[in-house]
Amino acid sequence: MRILVTGGAGFIGSHLIDRLMSEGHEVICLDNFYTGRKDNIKHWLDHPYFEVIRHDITEPIRLEVDQVYHLACPASPVHYQFNPVKTVKTNVMGTLYMLGLAKRVKARFLLASTSEVYGDPEVHPQPEEYRGNVNCNGLRSCYDEGKRIAETLAFDYHRDNGVDIRVARIFNTYGPRMLEDDGRVVSNFVAQTLRNQPLTVYGDGSQTRSFCYVSDMVDGLIRLMNGDYIGPVNLGNPGEYTILELAQKIQNMINPEATIGFKPLPQDDPRKRQPDITKAREILGWEPRVPLQEGLELLIEDFRKRYSIPSPSKTQ
Ligand code: NAD
Ligand code: UDP
Repeated sequence: MRILVTGGAGFIGSHLIDRLMSEGHEVICLDNFYTGRKDNIKHWLDHPYFEVIRHDITEPIRLEVDQVYHLACPASPVHYQFNPVKTVKTNVMGTLYMLGLAKRVKARFLLASTSEVYGDPEVHPQPEEYRGNVNCNGLRSCYDEGKRIAETLAFDYHRDNGVDIRVARIFNTYGPRMLEDDGRVVSNFVAQTLRNQPLTVYGDGSQTRSFCYVSDMVDGLIRLMNGDYIGPVNLGNPGEYTILELAQKIQNMINPEATIGFKPLPQDDPRKRQPDITKAREILGWEPRVPLQEGLELLIEDFRKRYSIPSPSKTQ
């Protein structure tokens, strides 16, 4: 198949491309390189089945493809809040143009939606039926409401234009290739500990998140795309940790002497988050396999390489 991956030079997109290329597909990576890096896809650049297009999805584009994985959108609060109007444009106009493309060429379209559609949830864990508790005019709204309208667009194109959609609600995902300075909690804590800086816990660290390793996420996205169920489906790891527990875990894994410092909690920071993955289990036969400890080791190894810090086993 010929498959378009928007946001393919980013963290999840590049891992998805690795899987699609290794399965023998023809892949077009479309990215404006805002948070994506050529480095993430450089190993495919000379491959005859791979093509990269520098393009901003807030402008239309014509391409002939069989499937579209629509991931283009900055995912970290630091980046999506840097230019919030652009984030809204990416989610609204970008998703509109990509759905238009899918409609024109009759491609199947998968939207990378997010757990942020649940906002600061009052239902725990969050099932897909929960409609969320989202602030429509706060600092996170450009992303949360942007993704909510992206889901609305996908379902309206499905109902009115027969576009074959799939909607994944992705929960916090981590792994190699995360940007070191993109402000997300796992990459921040690992980078800070390796640089001998204090770990920055926001608030008292009692807020919770559930962390899914990227290979599990890619597997879930591919299963959703190739199954019959349109969604929305939660994809995430139900293992729930407080942010303080996560800081202590990373501290123990890298440097037990590292210090933990506390900083103010950002506005509208969700107090807890845990996916109910009953649907993914029953309909897609999917559940995460990589435990947090194992996934963190792989991420830490990747960051050590970037900082040229030998891993402990190699120094002995
Ligand atoms: P990322 O920032 O690493 O990747 C996003 C990619 O989209 C980047 O390569 C970026 O350059 C590209 N992009 C951004 N705006 C664009 C535009 N206007 N035109 C073209 N390309 C553009 O983020 P990620 O973690 O890989 O997330 C991928 C998708 O998954 C996003 O849609 C995100 O909302 C969703 N998601 C991710 C998480 C997570 O924990 N990583 C959680 C929920 C949802
Ligand atoms: N967080 C933190 N220290 C950091 C970065 C994030 O304590 O250096 C917290 C943040 O306030 C939130 C959680 O970790 O409660 C997850 O943040 P992230 O930005 O990774 O994801 P999101 O809030 O979008 O789930």
